[in-house]
Amino acid sequence: MRKVSKIKVLREILDPVKKKGQKVGFVPTMGYLHEGHLSLIRIARKNCNFVVSSIFVNPIQFGPNEDFNRYPRDLKRDEALLKKEKVDLLFYPSVKEMYADDYKTYVEVSELSSILCGKSRPGHFRGVATAVLKLFNIIKPDIAVFGEKDYQQAIIIKRMVKDLNLDVKIIMGPIVRENDGLAMSSRNIYLSPEERADATILYQSLEWAKELFYKENIKSPEYVINKMRQMIEAKNGRVDYIAVVDKDDLRPVKFIKKGDRILLAVFFGRTRLIDNIAI
Ligand code: AMP
Repeated sequence: MRKVSKIKVLREILDPVKKKGQKVGFVPTMGYLHEGHLSLIRIARKNCNFVVSSIFVNPIQFGPNEDFNRYPRDLKRDEALLKKEKVDLLFYPSVKEMYADDYKTYVEVSELSSILCGKSRPGHFRGVATAVLKLFNIIKPDIAVFGEKDYQQAIIIKRMVKDLNLDVKIIMGPIVRENDGLAMSSRNIYLSPEERADATILYQSLEWAKELFYKENIKSPEYVINKMRQMIEAKNGRVDYIAVVDKDDLRPVKFIKKGDRILLAVFFGRTRLIDNIAI
């Protein structure tokens, strides 16, 4: 596995790869890798001959009171995991390499960026979209893989690709979970043992809601959301939002139907976790 931090060097490696007609797959990450990330790399590998992954903790997607400085980082461990997956190239730029001191340009996917997670994290998706667009321009992948774990993010990236006519195919990978159902996340290490145990309610409540639809034909989002809130609050979770939305435009639905998506964000202590499920 080659690893590079400079855009110029990365291009010198990738240009001949593309000239040879190899298909380039790309998996962007913020590092501190887990099986969720690795599952996306395996999807890229299946679809492409040359796999690039990036590790970049993107400062512009963090709010002023968020965890940019304490976000977990372990490049050595990540490198070993990526090597094992036979990733061809790791790109780990510095903040300066991505954003020069006089940096001015941002991209915003309107509406989709100001709802759900965007409401409580203003500027977050603008930061994500800007970094991802830059990475796409730098790497020029044929395919990029994003996790359903960050469902709103994946929908926003898909919309950006469509709206800006970017020549990259977006593939979404399913959520990888711990044995007890908690969605894997680099942020799970912030949880105390008690919070970690309580947080399993997130997936339990999502599964419960899905079952209610299929077994008891319950179609009221209000009913489902209220019950889920009660279940989560009983486990000391502080609900940021729970929403039942259309899987493509993320608008709240009036009646639940097959294919809709339940999305949630919940604090356990200071740690904000997100999860979702397809109905
Ligand atoms: P992050 O490092 O958190 O920015 O995530 C990088 C990519 O991995 C994003 O596309 C995430 O959606 C995806 N991802 C994170 N956690 C999981 C998971 N548990 N299962 C599947 N994909 C994930």
